[in-house]
Amino acid sequence: MKNMLPEYDVIVVGGGHAGCEAAFSAAKMGSNVLLVTMNLQNIAQMSCNPAMGGVAKGQIVREIDALGGGSGIVTDKSAIQFKMLNLSKGPAMWSPRTQNDRMRFAEEWRLQLERTENVHFWQDMVNGLLIEDGKLKGVKTVIGMEIKSKAVVLTNGTFLNGLIHLGEKNFSGGRSGEGASYGITEQLVDLGFETGRMKTGTPPRVDGRSLDYSKMEEQPGDENPNKFSYSDHTDSLSKQRSCYITYTNPKTHKVLKGGFDRSPMFNGSIKSKGPRYCPSIEDKINRFAERDRHQIFVEPEGWETVEIYVNGFSTSLPEEVQYEALKTIPGFENVKMFRPGYAIEYDYFPPTQLTHSLETKLVDNLFFAGQINGTTGYEEAASQGLMAGINVHLKLQGKEPFILGRSDAYIGVLIDDLITKGTEEPYRMFTSRAEFRILLRQDNADLRLTNLSHQIGLASTEQLDKVNLKIEQTNALKSILKKTSVAPDEINSILESKNSSVIKQKQKANSLLVRPHISMSDMRSASEFLDQKIKDLDPTQDALIQAEIQIKYDGYISREQENALKLNRLEEVKIPPHTDYSTLSSLSAEAVEKLTEIKPVTIGQASRISGVSPSDVSILLVYLGR
Ligand code: FAD
Repeated sequence: MKNMLPEYDVIVVGGGHAGCEAAFSAAKMGSNVLLVTMNLQNIAQMSCNPAMGGVAKGQIVREIDALGGGSGIVTDKSAIQFKMLNLSKGPAMWSPRTQNDRMRFAEEWRLQLERTENVHFWQDMVNGLLIEDGKLKGVKTVIGMEIKSKAVVLTNGTFLNGLIHLGEKNFSGGRSGEGASYGITEQLVDLGFETGRMKTGTPPRVDGRSLDYSKMEEQPGDENPNKFSYSDHTDSLSKQRSCYITYTNPKTHKVLKGGFDRSPMFNGSIKSKGPRYCPSIEDKINRFAERDRHQIFVEPEGWETVEIYVNGFSTSLPEEVQYEALKTIPGFENVKMFRPGYAIEYDYFPPTQLTHSLETKLVDNLFFAGQINGTTGYEEAASQGLMAGINVHLKLQGKEPFILGRSDAYIGVLIDDLITKGTEEPYRMFTSRAEFRILLRQDNADLRLTNLSHQIGLASTEQLDKVNLKIEQTNALKSILKKTSVAPDEINSILESKNSSVIKQKQKANSLLVRPHISMSDMRSASEFLDQKIKDLDPTQDALIQAEIQIKYDGYISREQENALKLNRLEEVKIPPHTDYSTLSSLSAEAVEKLTEIKPVTIGQASRISGVSPSDVSILLVYLGR
């Protein structure tokens, strides 16, 4: 019984967003992978809102797809609405977001994994690591199995010692309706790991048939919906489901406040930190007492289901307080509740205990990915899973780890932040965390990453061919626009209509395209010759957008590329692995402590550790002979 299963290369513990990506990428690269999860029915559950992407998170999903991961494809196959957010801002801020069919999302992930040759499944709860002579040998499970493997990726999400709070009640659980996981934290602490507690929460779900949508504002999807995946052949959405907006009011706030003395947030039951940027409704009312209303997004949970997600109303107040408060919201007067909101506390492991490959510093061949590292969000979890899957495979092959830099990808920023700075509250990605966000756009993730991924054996040749075609077409378009002149009588009426100064003599198309509000389609409608040249090339929509962005923002992009080069110079200065910082007497005491704990691999990483000052960096550079 103990050894009924064979030995695997990799065991991935947990079938959430991180676990799915880890199993998918390691197996696609050739590792023999066992995915062990508590309930195979619940693979890739969206524990909170039925949506993917959004600001900075949408860029991450595009990056996952460009690297050959599965989240983009699954998202496209299960989308019920697509929106490109922030189109009125510059392209660095354009952010794809979908509303998804929750059940279909989970089903598509399960099918995708089942179709991946080297992924095997086992339903069970892992309650410890198998360690022999100080070496990781696999996992132990609650039903008494000992399953052998060369490496393990832990992606336990919110399940480790999970404690659910609902009003004054609290009970053990990893997520609503699912049990918590015990044993792993305790063993890791014995092995010398540090652990902490975090908290998150979710809103109630209600019956869409009980709502009056005429009292709300409709939020339809984009007229021409795009997709997440660069490579998948799924068509864009031909129909979409709308979301709606409504608002809380002073009556709602009064009802909610009436329950505050029973709130685990305020009566001391919940002690751990929650996501600051995703506050509960009681938190919002408390912190922003001057506001008499808060926005509520009414989001469908799928194509067919009547269940509705009440976005903006995350709460752990008693269920009857939630119900009474909901009834005060316009459109919700006759609401029927399906599930109450709740909060959950869980264990995480401060991520400074990992290297940039997401392997733990304490146990060889043990990797952590997802919420277990102190992050929050599906996209953050999925991207770590992908990187852990890639790196566990490379490690077993004796190859160098695959590390993305801060100027390569949001994923690089995410992992670098976690490893060099750690996090004391649930970490969520924002565009402001990336210093090179003009380079890290959603439109060019494939140009940045697919070739790198192909080189390590993950992105397929077909995927790379598509990227190469996009590069070719983009360059050809730029060259056409550079060579073609436009005459005043062709363009001046368009320029005037857009409050742009008219031209007196012919000008190259690319120099006009740089002007604000002047678009590629303006140039094409001005010049028949130009339009015909472009038609002859027959470029994809992606290439057209890419050429336009590269021409329009060339100045900004070049400046940022130069800054990235400067940063990368510091990234190239390696610090020997066993450097004894305590012998460098000029370093500050705090720097010695932090550098010894985090063990940065490069000067670039050292410079980002909080507590390491620019003068500490200079001392290190002198020490390294620079
Ligand atoms: P999870 O999706 O939690 O998956 C963990 C997986 O591991 C599960 O399949 C579980 O069964 C399995 N597992 C756990 N322990 C074991 C074990 N010992 N043996 C075998 N299998 C195991 N994110 C936001 O961005 N915004 C929010 O507002 C938000 N609110 C949330 C509210 C709640 C109540 C919850 C639960 C989550 C919320 N999240 C939110 C977080 C989001 O759901 C997670 O960030 C994301 O799902 C993390 O992915 P993961 O793969 O790390 O873990």
